[in-house]
Amino acid sequence: MKYSVIIPVYNEEENVYALYERLTGVMEKLSPDFELLFINDGSRDKTFPLVKALSVNDNRVKYINLSRNFGHQIAVSAGLDACQGERVVIIDADLQDPPELIAEMDQKMNDGFQVVYARRRKRQGESVSKLLTARLFYRLLANIASIDIPLDTGDFRIMDRKVVNVLKAMPEQNKFLRGQISWIGFRQTFVEYDRSERHGGKTGYTYAKMFRFALDGITSFSDAPLRLASWMGFVVSGFAFLALIYAFWGKFVLHQSVPGWASIIVSVLFLGGIQLLSLGFIGEYLSRISANVKQRPLYIVDETNTAKE
Ligand code: UDP
Ligand code: MG
Repeated sequence: MKYSVIIPVYNEEENVYALYERLTGVMEKLSPDFELLFINDGSRDKTFPLVKALSVNDNRVKYINLSRNFGHQIAVSAGLDACQGERVVIIDADLQDPPELIAEMDQKMNDGFQVVYARRRKRQGESVSKLLTARLFYRLLANIASIDIPLDTGDFRIMDRKVVNVLKAMPEQNKFLRGQISWIGFRQTFVEYDRSERHGGKTGYTYAKMFRFALDGITSFSDAPLRLASWMGFVVSGFAFLALIYAFWGKFVLHQSVPGWASIIVSVLFLGGIQLLSLGFIGEYLSRISANVKQRPLYIVDETNTAKE
């Protein structure tokens, strides 16, 4: 098999057919030898029956039906585990990632690159708060991460088999694929594109999911929050020491005792806040350690027509 296209789908009934049409158009020009692998991530609408119907008429259409909603990153991981192509594309189902770009990305693969990712120049039809939080997140991550993770890049990319096999062998439970792929190395490059609006339906990424995803990215690729806690402790202790000197100065030199309970309240609250924050950071890492120690399967397959199982 030359190409696999991995498509995670979650409530995408309005987009599945349009995506299928455009993708097959693009892929047929590249090679007759490809598979479209849909991973149904616990959709509540007609997405899965639609995909299944496509697979009846077109044996290039493969599917994996997960037993519930496991989240985008895990759905993609399930696809990586089951795909068979020599080159593997990851693409969103909502047509925000233009399938036509795959041809351009594939061209760069022919030039000898092993990963070609798509970098967003512009994003259309997305809420101001989403644009702002995404922008902030990618810049924060770039500053504190221990590796270079490209800015403004989603999971839309093409990779060769070697990279996919390395990725599959990485056992971590909290997936942040774009970071893992940067970490792996090899020859990587990018093409730029303007991200369009969703074709239909609405985003499956709630703010809660985005927050969890952001935390996974940060805790997987940076120890800065852990260190931040000790730095803040250091700074706050410094302030406390200065305050102590000031209090002695006031009492014995200026002969005026400080009457304010306000200062006490403020310092107690401040310290309390810092302590809770530090504990919170430690908890974040700890919960990830415990998730990995549990060794649960990453996902559960209900039904599939791929070779796996
Ligand atoms: N998706 C998924 N599981 C989820 C949420 C989303 O498989 O829990 C899929 C979704 O069907 C789409 C891709 O992941 O193909 C990107 O999601 P979405 O377009 O909702 O995210 P956004 O573009 O708004 O960041
Ligand atoms: Mg989208």
